[in-house]
Amino acid sequence: TYVVTDACIKCKYMDCVEVCPVDCFYEGENMLVINPNECIDCGVCEPECPAEAILPDTENGLEQWLELNAQYSAEWPNI
Ligand code: SF4
Repeated sequence: TYVVTDACIKCKYMDCVEVCPVDCFYEGENMLVINPNECIDCGVCEPECPAEAILPDTENGLEQWLELNAQYSAEWPNI
């Protein structure tokens, strides 16, 4: 899955949401998140993010962000 990280906080761009083929972005408290159960790992959102906030979960040190993406996508609306 891909993960949205802290560079997204208060970002106003939604380019990532437009391109996702499975519509798995959710609105979090102060940032967008990706539902890890719905993401199909296509990677098309990653280059669309102007803040470079979207990373593959294969990168090191993203456990905290992965957990937050899962939590917010369970609690907040789909966008
Ligand atoms: Fe959507 Fe693909 Fe990005 Fe996953 S990697 S959030 S499926 S655009």
